[in-house]
This record gives sequence, structure tokens and C-alpha cells, in this order.
Amino acid sequence: MDYFCYKNGKLFAENTEVERIIAKIGTPVYIYSKATFTNHLQKVQKAYSQLDTTVCYSVKACGNINILKILAEAGSGFDIVSGGELYRTLQAGGEPSKIVYAGVGKTDKEIIEALNAGIGYFNIESEAEMENLIHLATQQGKCPKAALRINPDVDPKTHTYTTTGKKETKFGVDIERARKVFADYGKNKAVKLCAIHIHLGSAGKTVEPYVEAIKKALVLIDQLRKDGFTIEAIDMGGGYGADYTTGTAPSAEDYAAAIVPMLKGRNLKLILEPGASIAANAAILVTQVLYLKSSGSKRFVIVDAGMNDLIRPPLYNAFHFIWPAKVDKEFVPSCRHKDLQLAGTEVVDVVGPICEGADFFAKDRALPPVKRGDLLSIFTAGAYGFTMSSNYNARPRPAEVLVNGEEFTVIRRRETYEDLTRLEK
Ligand SMILES: *Cc1c(COP(=O)(O)O)cnc(C)c1O
Repeated sequence: MDYFCYKNGKLFAENTEVERIIAKIGTPVYIYSKATFTNHLQKVQKAYSQLDTTVCYSVKACGNINILKILAEAGSGFDIVSGGELYRTLQAGGEPSKIVYAGVGKTDKEIIEALNAGIGYFNIESEAEMENLIHLATQQGKCPKAALRINPDVDPKTHTYTTTGKKETKFGVDIERARKVFADYGKNKAVKLCAIHIHLGSAGKTVEPYVEAIKKALVLIDQLRKDGFTIEAIDMGGGYGADYTTGTAPSAEDYAAAIVPMLKGRNLKLILEPGASIAANAAILVTQVLYLKSSGSKRFVIVDAGMNDLIRPPLYNAFHFIWPAKVDKEFVPSCRHKDLQLAGTEVVDVVGPICEGADFFAKDRALPPVKRGDLLSIFTAGAYGFTMSSNYNARPRPAEVLVNGEEFTVIRRRETYEDLTRLEK
């Protein structure tokens, strides 16, 4: 669900015509919908309202401080994975006690910054990290809370790069080892180890892996409590599906319908770390057609955005629906689907200008006929879009625009050539 719709053949972001934004800002550009962000957040908050739940939006999905501000004002906490994300979150007015900090390689500097900010939980990924946190907390005179990240060994059936809850990953410790970690560190005074953290990976399309993981986590929690340890919270991580293809992801209510009954009456606070399911549908990347080219049987649409602007298609083999920003009536898409077949479409590859074979947005995709100068919208670009962008090929990064009803604001200006060399002295 989002607020990017065609009206009379013209693509709108909320009540703002996309062409009107492009006329002023140019391409390529990320266009965000405020209402989509807040709507998705509220759906999660509502779905889990029967439990004592804190939604901690995952900053790495989309971290512009103007967007973090909107989410903070709507009551969100934040899931961070670096000192830079802590800085962003605090700049945006994020409530420190609602910050959870994950990551296998936290540096001393980052840990000290988080200790001084007074974050909610350190999500601990190894014994060595626990030792170091105890050392630094004692040195700084702080008494932080920590959650142990466990590895429930379930497969979310997603891309290998986004699978993080299986035994062979670098993340967390296995369930058997978790009891030993609590035996060694669960009673120490410097760091309150009092919660369990799980994160299965990203972009799962079913509820079952979560159910399986919670079952395992609850067995562990019961054992730990029996052993005399205090477990006050379970952090379920993120990875909830987003609608890249219309109607394929379970909704927040679908997940909650399975998860809430399992946790009810358990005296556990719940933390959720959704990233993509909040942000993905909240943006489009708009690009302009530069050239058309045929090569053998292939037809290429060459556009002015590249893999430096949006790397998900080559990196994860991810599907992004692509469609012109202005179409005749017969080409208004009824849904966003890879195999959407309409009479009169042509099968093309949509590619960028970068000197890499991997620089593509779509392969063998049926699109309405386009010509030089037309605008194409790459949908569901809000998560791991701008945050993964780079200056590769010395390309200034695109502008980011936030739409609120009939208004739009530039929330990050387009980079300039001067920006490219500014730090090179
Ligand atoms: C990346 C990440 C998330 C968010 O994942 P999504 O797939 O964007 O929901 C949540 N928690 C942790 C620990 C992460 O690393």
C-alpha cells in the first residue's frame, strides 16, 4: 500500500503530480510520500497494541533526518547499526531510550557514544563484544541494558545476502550457546543482560519463520528464567515483507495475528525493527529516458539513473516495478507485477549509463513504448535505495524530495561536482 497512483494517466505522489516535481528538481530524484511512512508505522503500532510494544524503525533502510523526524514524532524508536546512524537519529530528535543498537563490529568509539547517549539496548552479538561492553561501561560509569542476539537457525527463504538467522552466519550466537553466555554474564552488575534479540534477515514473504523463531526463543527464555535470570524483553528484529509486487507481502496484521498470541501473558516487552516494510513503498526513483538502442534481438532503454543511485537489482536480483510517469488510458497499470501484460507493450531492458554490465534496473520487461525524454518511475525504491547510493563514476547523488499532500520539499539537495571533490585536499 502506498500513495503513488495514476490519475488520468499521470503519476501522482499523494496529491502532487510527479511531472511538476521533475520540472523543478530534475532527474534522477527520489520522491518520498510522508503519508506512506506514517501509515505503515501506525499499522505496525496498531497491530501489536495488545502487547507492550516499541517499534524501532531500522535507520539503515532510509535514514534522511527529515524522515527520521517524521517517524520520531509519530512515536517510533530506532534500530541503529553504527555511530553514524546514532548521530543521525539524535539529530532527528529520536528518543535515546527507544534506540536499539545491533551490529557484529561495534568499535569502542561507537560504544562509548551510545553509552553516553543512554540508548535502550545494546544488541550483543558475541561473548567478546559483551566483555568489551562491560569494560567500557565500567570505565564510563554507565549501566546499560543489553539483549543477546540469538541465531534461531531458521531460514526466511530469502536471498543469501539477506539471510541472517541461520547457523552459518556471522550474526548472533546459537541457542545452545546462549545459556552459557547468560551463565557467564547474566548476573554481572556493569551491564544488565535482560533481553533476547532475533533478526532473521530481510524481505521474507511468509509469517512461518517468525513463528518458528519465537517458539525456539520462548523455550530459551523459559529456561533462562528458571535459571534465575531476568528476561524483560524480546526483540523480534525486522525483515517483514514489503509489497514490491502488489499483494505479495503479509500485512502487519498478518504477522501480528500469528505473533501476538504467542507472546500474550508472557510478561515480555516486545521490540520490532521494521525497515523495508515501512520505507520500501514510501518512495519512487524517477529517471529520464536518454536513448533507445537495439542490439541483436535486445532492446535497451537507457536512462539517467544508474546502479550507483539504486543498487538493489544487481545486488539482490531484486524486482522493482518500472512504468512511465505519463501514459495513455490503455496503459494505466492495474497492479505492479513483473509479468504485467498489456496489449501494445514492448519487451526491453532498462539500463543505466555506468560502465558495468551489472548496471540494470530491469531485464526483459514489458513496458509501454517510450521515447527520449520520457520519465520512468522505479517503484518501491524507499528502502536500501538512497542509503546504498554512491558516487561511483563520479556521479553526484540524486536529490531527495518529500511530498506531503499537495506540497513538496527538497530534503536533500542534489549533489554538485564541487561536492565530489570537496574532501580531497
Ligand atoms: C537491517 C536490519 C533490520 C531491518 O530489516 P528490514 O528487512 O529492512 O526490515 C532490522 N534489524 C536488524 C538488526 C537489521 O540489521
